Amino acid sequence: MQQHIDSYDFAGKKAIVRVDFNVPLNEQFEITDDTRIRRAMPTLKKVLAGGGSLIIMSHLGRPKGVTDKFSLKHIVNHVAECLGAPVKFAADCQKAQAEVASLKPGEALLLENLRFYAEEEGKPRGLAEDASDEEKKAAKAAVKASQKDFVKTLASYADCYINDAFGTAHRAHASTALIADYFPNDKMFGYLMEGEIKAIDNVLKNAKHPFTAIIGGSKVSSKLAVLENMLEKVDNLIIGGGMGYTFVKAQGGQIGNSLHEDDLMPQALEILAKAKEKGVKIYLSQETVIADDFSNDANTKIVPSGQIPEGWEGMDAGPASLKEWKDVILGSKTVLWNGPVGVFEMPTFAKGTLQIAEDLAEATAKGAYTLVGGGDSVAAVTQMGYAEKVSYVSTGGGAMLEALEGKELPGIAAIRG
Ligand code: AMP
Repeated sequence: MQQHIDSYDFAGKKAIVRVDFNVPLNEQFEITDDTRIRRAMPTLKKVLAGGGSLIIMSHLGRPKGVTDKFSLKHIVNHVAECLGAPVKFAADCQKAQAEVASLKPGEALLLENLRFYAEEEGKPRGLAEDASDEEKKAAKAAVKASQKDFVKTLASYADCYINDAFGTAHRAHASTALIADYFPNDKMFGYLMEGEIKAIDNVLKNAKHPFTAIIGGSKVSSKLAVLENMLEKVDNLIIGGGMGYTFVKAQGGQIGNSLHEDDLMPQALEILAKAKEKGVKIYLSQETVIADDFSNDANTKIVPSGQIPEGWEGMDAGPASLKEWKDVILGSKTVLWNGPVGVFEMPTFAKGTLQIAEDLAEATAKGAYTLVGGGDSVAAVTQMGYAEKVSYVSTGGGAMLEALEGKELPGIAAIRG
């Protein structure tokens, strides 16, 4: 049975908490952005304040085995600073029994990177490139078998399990999903996970209408499932960014050298047809800022999106599109945004994405629920200083994308199930 972190009695208990401390480090192993660490603090502090002790576990990067560069020892001091309590370090997540046994209420222990073991992900490592199918199958079976012991050891450390790692909630890994089985009556979400789940429910289950989704980014192929799921939910669908040109070309427009995927044109047309059938209004960018080079210093012009000359490419939404989109956004009670509407990394082509961030902030101030979900739109809204002015900014790129596709995330199912 799922427990709730607010009502659970942590006194004298050891809590094993899966967090996402996969933070960026520079060459001196200094943390360059500690957002993920800070976002886990309310949960970690709650356990300590309740008289419990903490066993904190995370991955860092994509190591293929024990690698100093990916050691969590580099972040332990910063975690202690944020937590306001000493944090011990266990240099092997599978051999931490002694450190765990000596943990007293109010104390914390950080386990070394879980992904130093292949068992965390349950995927074989070190297979020769020319391995036969049989060899691959045998290696997979072997890692799955040893994964059971790996999970059991982690579970043996604690009395209760908390998952607060939304960033890996779409993975059925040892620490994100499988371990929950060992705590049938003592498993719960942390505050960050709860916030993310509530945000997802606010748009997918309980959206107030009119509901507008703005889906941007580079490729239709990576957002196809999101677009299809959104057609079931929204009143308005704004399609921006590089992916918009596939739609324009599919309808017979001239897109010059703009990013596009020819093989996705039939699906683009299908989405337009389905939207019509369902009464969903689609807003493509009718006007585009084009450039004669993929560069911040390129020459630029503003043209209708279906009339882009050869040698030029679409880089950002034009002012007429932004005006039209603004009216749609401000007329909405729920707004979801995933993906930039231009090449926002280059200041010359960041105006459209900045305008969307501003529109969301204005809609929020007027009482709309606004969610910035996933990847580059999160980076954009944060960089541009609008993160505090929208209702919720998600911490999980891949996890949020899969949730928006309508999939049930294994990390969520393991606690609820
Ligand atoms: P995604 O990871 O699919 O959300 O895409 C984000 C990327 O799309 C960012 O790096 C943007 O620079 C890029 N992008 C947005 N609009 C365009 C465009 N018109 N042409 C090329 N890339 C774009």
